[in-house]
Order: sequence, then C-alpha cells, then structure tokens
Amino acid sequence: MNEINSNHQIRFENGEFVQQDTKPSAPISMPDCGPHFHEVLNSHKLNLHHEHPNELQINLGKLCNLACHHCHVDAGPKRTEIMTWETMQKILSWAKKANIERADLTGGAPELNPHFREFCDELIKLGIQITSRCNITVLYESGQEDLAEWYAERKIRLVCSLPCYTEDNVDAQRGKGVFDKSIAGLQKLNALGYGKNSELSLDLVYNPGGAFLPPPQMSLEEDYRKMLGDNFDITFSSLLAITNIPINRFAHALKRNGELEDYQHLLVSNFNAGTVEQLMCRFLINLDWEGRVYDCDFNQMLEIPMSGGAQTYLWDLEINGVAGQSIATNRHCFGCTAGAGSSCGGILAD
Ligand code: SF4
Ligand code: SF4
Repeated sequence: MNEINSNHQIRFENGEFVQQDTKPSAPISMPDCGPHFHEVLNSHKLNLHHEHPNELQINLGKLCNLACHHCHVDAGPKRTEIMTWETMQKILSWAKKANIERADLTGGAPELNPHFREFCDELIKLGIQITSRCNITVLYESGQEDLAEWYAERKIRLVCSLPCYTEDNVDAQRGKGVFDKSIAGLQKLNALGYGKNSELSLDLVYNPGGAFLPPPQMSLEEDYRKMLGDNFDITFSSLLAITNIPINRFAHALKRNGELEDYQHLLVSNFNAGTVEQLMCRFLINLDWEGRVYDCDFNQMLEIPMSGGAQTYLWDLEINGVAGQSIATNRHCFGCTAGAGSSCGGILAD
C-alpha cells in the first residue's frame, strides 16, 4: 500500500471544481467512555476480519441540500468536498479489474455531484448493480427535475431516508418542510413503479429521533406501511431500521444534551454477539470523495484508515490481499452491535 502525500485538494465551490491548499480536518467526535469494542469482542472470543469484497460503498462527497441533526457525515449545503471525474475513472478501472459486483453510492446527496449520472452509467456498463442513497428531497433541487425518471429508466435501487411517518418528527430531525417534500417525492417514485414493481426497489430508512435504539424492524415496517398507505397511498419495498452511531453531529448533540455517556452505555449494555458475523464492514470497501479506503463510512468520518493502516487509495489496493485483513474498531462500533444490530442494510439479527 502507498502512503498518501498530497498538499492540495480539489474542492467544489459555486458550481465548479477548484484547487485548494489542504485544510485541517474538522474536529471529529466520538464517545470516550466505557469499554473498548475490541475488549468486548475478545471477551466473546470473536474477531473481525474482511471477507473477499465484492461491493464498493462510495461516498461521492459531503455536499447535501439538507443538514440533518443525526448526520454522521456532517453533510450540508456549504460542504465543498466532492469526488472528481478523474477519481471516478480510477475507481471504474479498479472495479473492473477487481470484478466488483455492487456499488452503494452515498454522500451527502450523491446526486449533487456533477458527474453522478455519468458515473452511474459507466458502472452499469461494467455490469455493476447500483444502490443510491437518496434523501428524496433532492428530487426537487434545481436541475434534478428529471431525476426520478432517470433512476427508473436504469432500475437503480433506491434507499431513501424517512426517519418517521409523522411530519413533526421528520421536520425536527431534517428541517422544516422536509416531510411534505419527502411524501411528494415518494408518490412520484411510486407513480413510476418504484416500490411496486419488483425491478424498482424502494427501501425506506428509519433512524431514531434521539438517544434510543430503533424499535423492532418488522413491527415498525408494518406501522410505516399502514401510516404511509392510509394517509398518503404510498407503498415501498422494505423498511431498514438503523441505529444512530454516536459520532460527529449526533455525538455533538448528545454531548450538548448531557446524553453521550448514557447513550454509549445503552449501546454497550445491548451488545449482541450474534450480529458480529454480519457486520457490513466485513463485506465491503468504503471510499471517500478522494478515493481513499476505509472499513466503513463511520470509520471514514473518524478518519480511521482501512484496517488501521496508512491512508491508501483504492487504486493502490490489491483486491486479493483484502480477505483476512483485520477491521479497525473503536467505541462507536457498539452502535452496529446493539440489539438487533445495524448496518446500511438495516438490522443484522432477529
Ligand atoms: S440527507 Fe443524509 S447526507 Fe444529507 S444531511 Fe441528511 S443525513 Fe446527512
Ligand atoms: S462502525 Fe464500521 S467498523 Fe465498526 S462495527 Fe460498524 S461497520 Fe464495522
């Protein structure tokens, strides 16, 4: 693996890419109390290693039209970190050689990257199945008027965040007016066949509005189906219940409210050894907007390089050397193993 040594970055400002001197990273935040994750794994005689990866989870940048309270990316309208086309081309070439089967595109709002659509089309040409993490409201951003139809034509799987089925809870977490736009966006997607036609998968994502664990995913899905169906005639494929990981914006909010220690204790006391085999970090490689590799999106935000080693670009990584490499963990990992567990695909155990 080659170590990274760059003193400038390409950032996206006022609609164009500009070169800037490297800025110091924003301060990061995570729990500093309770046992370490590896101590608890050891006590259960468990360890955490990569399998041979067939999926890339690609963070296309931190620019987002929203700035949600729980966002682990600290994404928002003023962020300038955006993946360039040059980086995308390097990823495409590596993915082809490595026979990658799936790409999970995230951000920020991945669609706001000016090369998003071209990148998706190139991934599709390689036979790579795409999941896009869409905040729904982006459908109403300027220049995105045809986005829903564009997605449907390509049968891209959509995973859409909707942290509750009530207006008050969604707007409290994501901003005023977000619920109404989300409902209108889901109705538009339904009208195109999303959530109805088996080839147009539309999953919704729930995450708690505060310092508590998600309710059971199955019963919550029934509640979502009833409330969204009865009130708005909305259907969807599945509901994914995700635990808030106590880092960055969510950790700051917990700290401000004096809840960080209690929340960490809640996560640790609900440790479920049965989730470890399914942790998402075992099966994918996560990339940041500059193409550097991490064990997962949370570690990326905490600037913990893949396997705790030196910062490495994807194109310097040997795919056959990944299986068996250890995964870098810290106290935030308890967010993935509490209760039924949590991942970008929802719960990990019954
Ligand atoms: S929509 Fe997603 S990426 Fe954007 S601020 Fe909200 S949680 Fe973060
Ligand atoms: S935070 Fe990341 S590394 Fe830690 S358990 Fe969760 S997915 Fe794995």
